[in-house]
Amino acid sequence: MIIVLVGAPGAGKGTHGKRIAAKRHLPHVSSGDLLREAVGSGTPLGRQAERYMKAGVLVPDKIMLLWVEKLLDMPEYEAGIVLDGFPRTVPQAEGLDEILAKRDLGVDRALFFDIEEAAAVRRLAKRVSCTNCGLVYNLDAKPPETPGECDRCGGTLDVRADDREATVHARFVEFRGSTKPMIEYYRSQGKLIRIDTTGSIAEVGKRVTAAIDLLDGLEPPESAAG
Ligand code: ATP
Ligand code: MG
Repeated sequence: MIIVLVGAPGAGKGTHGKRIAAKRHLPHVSSGDLLREAVGSGTPLGRQAERYMKAGVLVPDKIMLLWVEKLLDMPEYEAGIVLDGFPRTVPQAEGLDEILAKRDLGVDRALFFDIEEAAAVRRLAKRVSCTNCGLVYNLDAKPPETPGECDRCGGTLDVRADDREATVHARFVEFRGSTKPMIEYYRSQGKLIRIDTTGSIAEVGKRVTAAIDLLDGLEPPESAAG
């Protein structure tokens, strides 16, 4: 099964994506996390992507499509994948469809984490993550037990470079201009499931679980759209 997660920065794709993946026994792949890793270790992809990410703009579609094609050739993703943060533009969604069609596959569902921009901006302002293991916290909704320190590994918590105010604005401009049209692309194909992201992580989690249970073919996807 191929599930793609769509939503504005801070919508909760990473938080819930990991749970969805665990529930469906699928690997969770975050394009943003992998790009940050690539930048950190200075791979050719990282060197290409770095300046775009720093500016909060999207890495060009061509680079991302080459990336995903290589990814999907890896044996660990043969049984399916939860793709978090990719695709994010109509050309990426179309390119993904072409890549999958060559393998007799297709996107099964697109889960859209719907959030108001003001709420997302508020969340990003409170987001920190571990500089060692990457675990993500929210200083309001999911604070660490000891301030500034990771519960899991004791690493130092810090704000992600592109979560600083100047870059956040650019990311929302990208979301409105490039990603929103892609939501319509999936909606028109009847693949979109909208998740209301108001409330606590647990409340949203319940909605996500309900939507995921419907994937077993009990009901058509549109009925979960809410
Ligand atoms: P969140 O971490 O809350 O999900 P986000 O979706 O803005 O927020 P990431 O997915 O981590 O953040 O992506 C960070 C940056 O990585 C983006 O601003 C962009 O530069 C680059 N990036 C990630 N995925 C893609 C993609 N599919 N196409 C182009 N650029 C991407
Ligand atoms: Mg993310």
